Amino acid sequence: MTKSLYGAKEAKAIWVYLEQDEGRLESVSLELIGKAHELAEAQGIPVVGALLGDQVSSLAQEAIAAGADEVRVAEHPLLRQYTTDGYSKVFTELILKGKPDILLLGATPNGRDLAGRIAVRLRTGLTADCTDLKLEDKTGLLIGEVTGFGGGILAYIKCPDNRPQMATVRPGVFAVPEPETSRKGKVVSVPVELAEEDIKVQVLEHAVGGGVDITRAQVLVAAGRGCGGDFSLVNELAGLLEGEVGVSRVPVDEGWASRDRMIGQTGYVTRPKLAIVCGISGAFQFTVGVEKAEAIVAVNIDPDAPIFEQADYCIVDDMFNVLPPLIEAVKKARGGNGGR
Ligand SMILES: Cc1cc2nc3c(=O)[nH]c(=O)nc-3n(C[C@H](O)[C@H](O)[C@H](O)COP(=O)(O)OP(=O)(O)OC[C@H]3O[C@@H](n4cnc5c(N)ncnc54)[C@H](O)[C@@H]3O)c2cc1C
Repeated sequence: MTKSLYGAKEAKAIWVYLEQDEGRLESVSLELIGKAHELAEAQGIPVVGALLGDQVSSLAQEAIAAGADEVRVAEHPLLRQYTTDGYSKVFTELILKGKPDILLLGATPNGRDLAGRIAVRLRTGLTADCTDLKLEDKTGLLIGEVTGFGGGILAYIKCPDNRPQMATVRPGVFAVPEPETSRKGKVVSVPVELAEEDIKVQVLEHAVGGGVDITRAQVLVAAGRGCGGDFSLVNELAGLLEGEVGVSRVPVDEGWASRDRMIGQTGYVTRPKLAIVCGISGAFQFTVGVEKAEAIVAVNIDPDAPIFEQADYCIVDDMFNVLPPLIEAVKKARGGNGGR
């Protein structure tokens, strides 16, 4: 097996890549800091955040409040926008100096891109798209849980020899920790050597999609094949509850809904306070995206639908019978005008 550029004996600390966009930290980075803090406490090792960008050091305190003990900040005008070349060069150098034992990144488009590039440069393994992380009892090795064969199996992957042990985790898998604003940590500014010739691509335009972000919704009203493409009641209820509409894969495949609303293994992992799931059977690939909801209400005409195994409240009925009185009840509770 190819040897990594440093070994387990030299490795220390859990590092988290602090992804930022236009001076705003991605919430998955804070979710990972929270998880890293939990894992590091068991090992008695520190959590270090790695922050790359241009004039971004003010974000370090956010990571410290979430559980980081130290933040290494690499600032350079050429890091203002993410580029694979620029970020992977600077981050590889940072890693080789700091020699983390474990390195976690968010499975965002840029995080995925960077993780693959870094893993190859450092000649180490990468467990992509983990649905959970833990440490092996005897060895303290990182165990990444991933789903395989369309959700049919759960695989547990470890990287015993090469370092760092790398994993990416999708947004929403872990909760954002409550910020502890009085928490103290070290902020270390690291020198960056980067020239224009190091970056082969030129960013011409930075466009942010105008879609919804269902991972942040406190209330989700989700519909699947059972709605037959009619989202009128689902939209109305979601609006009344100040929530978002989510969907299973069928409405996306049928062209009834956009992909940014899809919950599940290939969609988004959500953790709302309340999920009302209508006309969705409850396939594993769907439920992994909603099982972290605080409460699930399922509406399905089939009493044997698997979704009822996940649900806290089960309503066996046609969603088109259930939603109108529910909408009326919410309107009434809010004083007749939906409270808006
Ligand atoms: C690799 C892979 C990845 C996948 N990723 C995802 C993913 O990320 N997200 C996802 O959702 N799926 C995903 N799928 C697809 C998944 O396996 C299921 O096929 C899909 O979730 C089914 O969607 P559904 O529940 O809407 O449809 P169905 O399974 O057809 O269920 C429809 C349900 O609606 C009920 N129903 C019908 N009419 C009504 C009514 N009027 N009122 C109430 N109930 C009614 C029925 O009883 C039934 O239970 C993936 C599959 C694979 C192989």
